[in-house]
Amino acid sequence: MIISSAKPFGEVLELLKDEDDIFIIGCGACATKLHVGGEPEVLDMLRRLEEAGKHVTGWCVPSAACSVASFDSLVEKDPSIKDAGCILVMACGSGVSIVSKVTEVPVYPSNNTESLGGLSQGEVFPELCAMCGDCKIYYFGGICPIGQCPKRLLNGPCGGSIDGKCEVDPEKDCVWELIYTRLEKLGRLDLLEKVWVCEEG
Ligand code: SF4
Ligand code: SF4
Repeated sequence: MIISSAKPFGEVLELLKDEDDIFIIGCGACATKLHVGGEPEVLDMLRRLEEAGKHVTGWCVPSAACSVASFDSLVEKDPSIKDAGCILVMACGSGVSIVSKVTEVPVYPSNNTESLGGLSQGEVFPELCAMCGDCKIYYFGGICPIGQCPKRLLNGPCGGSIDGKCEVDPEKDCVWELIYTRLEKLGRLDLLEKVWVCEEG
């Protein structure tokens, strides 16, 4: 099981300060067991966001956020996701990453992902989320450089990529190329102006 904890609600609100028409996605696996992304927590988040003046278009709790296969599978659960201006994922960083892959709007994490918590019987995607404990994947368009860049660069790229490929593993795309492309598509290249001065976590 992947261990994640809820960010303080004030931090979630700050992340969503410029957003409205929010769609909430929970997780029927780890986050449900930990009470940080099951149906009760999703409904509580919905209530608190609405009390804070935000409009929530809808919500769903797929069997596991990290196994969402397509945008259509989310539409099947709640068609109002098509009206969403952004998505809040109440799951681990891998779930945020997977949801970002199948959607075209900004995706925000409500949780911090911390560890594997011992034996895992489900699928684990360490390449998507390195479980740093302070999820900032939103700043990278839903593509985590801590998990996906071999140098774990928060202020990338390293300058070594050739034709968009990673200099450490030329079989793979440079994750910073992917981050740039995604943020450009979202119209949020401004997020790259932030300079990270802390170590991960
Ligand atoms: S920033 Fe990356 S490593 Fe940290 S919790 Fe989020 S997805 Fe995982
Ligand atoms: S080429 Fe890109 S993915 Fe590879 S180490 Fe450099 S910044 Fe990271």
